[in-house]
Amino acid sequence: AGPDPALEIIKERLANVKHKIIILSGKGGVGKSTVTSLLGHALAKLNPDANVGILDADICGPSQPRVLGVSGEQVHNSGSGWSPVYVTDNLSLMSIGFLLASPDDAVIWRGPKKNGMIKQFLSEVDWGDLDYLLIDTPPGTSDEHLSVIQYLSAAGVSGAVVVTTPQEVALLDVRKEIQFCQKVGLPVLGVVENMSLFVCPNCQARSEIFPATTGGARALCAALGARLLGALPLDPLLARCCDSGADFVAELPHSPAVLALRAIVAGT
Ligand code: ADP
Repeated sequence: AGPDPALEIIKERLANVKHKIIILSGKGGVGKSTVTSLLGHALAKLNPDANVGILDADICGPSQPRVLGVSGEQVHNSGSGWSPVYVTDNLSLMSIGFLLASPDDAVIWRGPKKNGMIKQFLSEVDWGDLDYLLIDTPPGTSDEHLSVIQYLSAAGVSGAVVVTTPQEVALLDVRKEIQFCQKVGLPVLGVVENMSLFVCPNCQARSEIFPATTGGARALCAALGARLLGALPLDPLLARCCDSGADFVAELPHSPAVLALRAIVAGT
């Protein structure tokens, strides 16, 4: 078989998207979707002239519409493709969550159907000009990841950001993620350590909820030659904002997590 004609369509569709960044995590629950949404908000807020898009490629567990406070919105397919949902003036989102009759509906699809949906998202969403497209993927290294990477091959992808917690079990999987990236030729832009520390809102004491017995993400990055982009603390207000879809970056601009995000965005 010759090359997939969709690759050329995707290349054309994403020709005006400068940086395409894939967000990965070894395990579920480490905060990959949360970090994706926070990075989206932070990039959009700190670069008001930039346009930021988020593609929720977690077909079976789309959480971006809820985290970004836009669940229940509709997407429209016009002559130029699907219009994403605008979270703010310069932050847009596309997710399978917008195509379901109810947010509680389960998507129970086998690989080829999920891959078809990802291909459709990459070839048919009319993002307009974007400075950053963040692609939120399911945990681990699955068929969907290979599809995203394959479909983006002609369009060019900047690289991957890997999200982890300092826990040993999570870090073990980060090694695998980084190996995966190396095998498929995907540059690793860096690692974000989430839930690094807990700062008590009452007494300001700092506790390590997930003790990093071998030095956490910093030591792992040093061993693997990867960049530690930054560390976000565990913050109950952040969790609350994600549950309610509120914009944490705007609401608590001076919180330690937002300061860490600013440093990450400034450094990338
Ligand atoms: P993943 O996408 O890796 O499965 P989520 O982003 O859905 O993980 O996060 C899992 C849960 O942890 C969510 O309820 C989220 O609100 C919460 N969470 C993530 N990061 C933080 C943090 N830094 N502080 C507090 N809660 C967090």
